[in-house]
Amino acid sequence: MCGVFGAFAQKDKLLLEDIYLGLFALQHRGQEAAGVAWIGPDGMLQSFKGMGLVHEALDQKRLSQIAARGAIGHVRYSTSGASIITNAQPLAANYAKGPVAISHNGNITNAEGIRLNLENRGAIFQSTTDTEVIIHLMAHQSHKAPLDALIDALERLNGAYSLAVLFKDALVAARDPWGFRPLVLGRRDDTYYVASESCALDLIRAEVIRNIEPGEVVVINDGGLSSLRIPLKAKRHYFCSFEYVYFARPDSIIDGRCVYIVRKEMGRRLAAASPCSRAQLVTDMPDSGTIAATGYADASGLPYERTIVRNRYVGRTFIQPTQKVRELGVQIKLNPMREVIDGKPLVVVDDSIVRGTTVAKVVSMMRKCGAREIHMRISSPPVRFPCYYGIDTPTRQELAAARFASLEDLKSSIEVDSLAYLKESDLVAAIGMPRDELCLACFNGEYLEEGNEGGFEL
Ligand code: SF4
Repeated sequence: MCGVFGAFAQKDKLLLEDIYLGLFALQHRGQEAAGVAWIGPDGMLQSFKGMGLVHEALDQKRLSQIAARGAIGHVRYSTSGASIITNAQPLAANYAKGPVAISHNGNITNAEGIRLNLENRGAIFQSTTDTEVIIHLMAHQSHKAPLDALIDALERLNGAYSLAVLFKDALVAARDPWGFRPLVLGRRDDTYYVASESCALDLIRAEVIRNIEPGEVVVINDGGLSSLRIPLKAKRHYFCSFEYVYFARPDSIIDGRCVYIVRKEMGRRLAAASPCSRAQLVTDMPDSGTIAATGYADASGLPYERTIVRNRYVGRTFIQPTQKVRELGVQIKLNPMREVIDGKPLVVVDDSIVRGTTVAKVVSMMRKCGAREIHMRISSPPVRFPCYYGIDTPTRQELAAARFASLEDLKSSIEVDSLAYLKESDLVAAIGMPRDELCLACFNGEYLEEGNEGGFEL
């Protein structure tokens, strides 16, 4: 996960509040830390980072008074490196060719090898994130102009990166050649913006221009906007299908597709392939299953009802994991309503089952509220494989669909009357992209073929 945001204007202006608001709109992509970096009127790189949500980590009032021509921001969800402030982004440095700051969404799969190689040559790393290898690779190419050094560094990477990079005189947006994570370009007046998702551009009233293409490097500077390509090493595209299933905000448009409409279509297709004539109503696991549940209800002709209320204010910040809290478990967050559930056979829709612990607890709570039957419907295929491209999934042994020998065993373990998943072909059809442009690796184990080696010559 993680969200990136950047802005570049033709003259110094109050850009930092836009960055703050953009990050605020991308909060769903990372809640552990947030940060901003900017080039001030004196040409100096400055940055500020904090732990927690955007409003906890950053001072909106202070940022709204800072003038800059270029600025970037980041919300973090740790997938590489511990959740500590030194790993928060943007990562900023001054190297031989001047200042550079990077915001990264994704996971560089050969970062470990590259890091080892660089450390053997004397490099000292400040953080444990994969992103830092980009800065070190650039610093080892100090005879090159910063943009050339960046592109040289990107050519050496495997895996997922959607980047906003800030130089003294330019904002650069880059997307890996496989196109794992989204990255969109926008504009308002004389200011260009890049963002992980279009919802961030909506909030600051910037117009969406287009997606940054897989393998594209967009440079925004005094001369306006220009586009370069990272020399092609991708055999095919791998856009993360899970962005449509769960990660992206439903009001975002990715590749011309509204995430809300795609999610609803997943529910419709699920209803067509796995109907449930015994059910009296369709309900959801809030909020992850809500949109697919409405699609399922539409297509099945069954009414949709909310049966579980989610406390939106629960977060690590407020609730400490004491013994009492552990005993209360999922009920702190989700509370089922007996008055709606009692005596009814239900279809319960969720977007996925990962470890299976939450679903088992919710099913048990629904039974206690008198649910007569519970038919679980999942709007994506079984998650059987971990993700190595920027999503923090558990190991294979911890994944419920991989742990049990069959879906029948999983069904018995979570104690539902029936269990059905969306077929891979229906997921692909609902998204509407060609299958060979989608990553489905956490469902089918078809990972990127490129090696994870980190060896190279500088
Ligand atoms: S493995 Fe799954 S979560 Fe990871 S990039 Fe691929 S589709 Fe997305």
